Amino acid sequence: MRLLVVEDDNELWEHLKRALHAAGFAVDRADNGVDGEFLGDSEPYDAIVLDLGLPRRPGLEVLRNWREGDNQTPVIVLTARDAWHERVDGLKAGADDYLGKPFHMQELIARIEALIRRRHGEATNELRSGELLLDEESQTLRIGDQAPRQLTATEFRLLRYFMRNPGKPLSKSRLTEHVYEYDADRDSNVIEVYVNRLRKYLGKERIRTLRGQGYRFEADPE
Ligand code: CA
Repeated sequence: MRLLVVEDDNELWEHLKRALHAAGFAVDRADNGVDGEFLGDSEPYDAIVLDLGLPRRPGLEVLRNWREGDNQTPVIVLTARDAWHERVDGLKAGADDYLGKPFHMQELIARIEALIRRRHGEATNELRSGELLLDEESQTLRIGDQAPRQLTATEFRLLRYFMRNPGKPLSKSRLTEHVYEYDADRDSNVIEVYVNRLRKYLGKERIRTLRGQGYRFEADPE
């Protein structure tokens, strides 16, 4: 899962980055409204954390522009404490949720995960596909009645993206975007290494190679 954080406060951003990484998200940042609006429209994010008080363009205007442009990415707005009018304005402008500053990172993460689940029509923090059960909290994989396997952060992000997009051709570059940071080394060959690792856990038939197109996760392999 890949997130955009639009936040101008450097100290808060450093906290957010660490907490969101630890929770298994790849995270990009914009530190002003103009860049944030542009990134939010040009990259395929799973959710966006949007501060309202931003330099160059206020968060509310950014959010309105996204929604008017039919960008329906789930957005959680960060509002000033006790500013009830900001919460109302944020929801009216198309926010899916809000959180008043200061907030606990665990609450933000829980809300982001809930937004993403809602969007995917899921009710729990487990992803299931046939015999496979991926627990998003512990980042463990269980197959049938085998013991749970602890995944690395990258394995977890890749498998989660596969399980959320079964039966679709997924290019290496798209997978890379969802698994790595915006500015990290995006060598798409690395994806192959991780796909092969996942195949060892899941069996080869779960992740098919599509010649010239990338991969396809099979929800129901033959
Ligand atoms: Ca701010």
